[in-house]
Amino acid sequence: MKNLLGISLEELTGEFVALGQTPYRAKQLYSWIYQKNVLDFDAMTDVSKAFRATLKESYTLALPSVYREQTASDGTIKLLLEMEDGAKVETVLMPYNYGNAICVSSEVGCSMGCAFCASGLHKKERNLTPAEMMGQLLVMNAILAKRGERVTHIVVMGTGEPFDNYDFVLSFLKAANSPFGLSIGARHITVSTCGLPEGIRRYGKEGFQFNLAISLHAPSQEKRASIMPIARAYDIETLFAAVKDYEQSAGRRVTFEYILLSGLNDSFEDADALAALIHRYELCSYVNLIPYNEVKEKPFRRTPKEKIKAFADRLMKKGVPTTIRKEFGGDIDAACGQLRAKVLKEERP
Ligand code: SAH
Repeated sequence: MKNLLGISLEELTGEFVALGQTPYRAKQLYSWIYQKNVLDFDAMTDVSKAFRATLKESYTLALPSVYREQTASDGTIKLLLEMEDGAKVETVLMPYNYGNAICVSSEVGCSMGCAFCASGLHKKERNLTPAEMMGQLLVMNAILAKRGERVTHIVVMGTGEPFDNYDFVLSFLKAANSPFGLSIGARHITVSTCGLPEGIRRYGKEGFQFNLAISLHAPSQEKRASIMPIARAYDIETLFAAVKDYEQSAGRRVTFEYILLSGLNDSFEDADALAALIHRYELCSYVNLIPYNEVKEKPFRRTPKEKIKAFADRLMKKGVPTTIRKEFGGDIDAACGQLRAKVLKEERP
């Protein structure tokens, strides 16, 4: 049975029109799901009995189930959710002072193979559907509702490469953004990619105001290729050319994410090379420095705080707007994919 959660309004309308219904049916369903939090077809009282019967026959609005739940002392919530086929997926809620940001996973496992990342410990098994991404958000909303809150920001930065699952990710984000859906503002939505040029260009031409973050993590082709296998498929110049096209067609700045790894990419020479690269392409981009979350199975160590600060100052002196990412969930398995990897290890040792 097809799960209708997270499907964009245009697609849902197409689906219902094909069944001989009016386009209005899709808006009605949206309103029940996203505004009234009703996921039971029988309770949708303004939908005709006959159409409710059709819905029940062919569709579902099932949510993933909560397999593990961890709450950190800073209010961070980490969930391991179980999908219908048993797949386990991580999702995290980060309570910023400006709102509640959910970090959504886009795939079961990940095949990008970044050397420092815990998500890549398990290869990609399949894409997550729009329903499974929306399911992550709605389950989190149900938990937050108990404290009178809800998700206000989305970052697609969980396990998986979103541009390797482009259509499903976009469908989900459109449903979240739609004024008939969850109404989460486009500027509160960010997709993070390890750098797939085709996806970056396509995203720049969609005509919405969603944000884009690029996982750069090194200022040169050689260093990048040593920690991110994707750089061997698309070198750093190819990536920057795509980012340049994006900034021009979308009229938006990207954020470069840069994890500081001790002794690997955290020297002043690295900062200078990074600034020079950004200036050479005349980009208006920001840099977001990420303190590394150490992963037991990986050899990388985090750069000390003062050195991160000095790296940021150096970039800013060179005219690159730079921020340092706030850290959450220090006392739970906070690093990307850590909880999932731990549970999978317990279950399939
Ligand atoms: N595949 C996408 C999105 C998922 S990763 C991408 O690569 O952007 C989201 C971000 O978390 C990326 O910048 C990734 O490099 C970073 N990340 C992965 N493992 C990390 C760790 N242990 N500590 C800090 N950041 C990490």
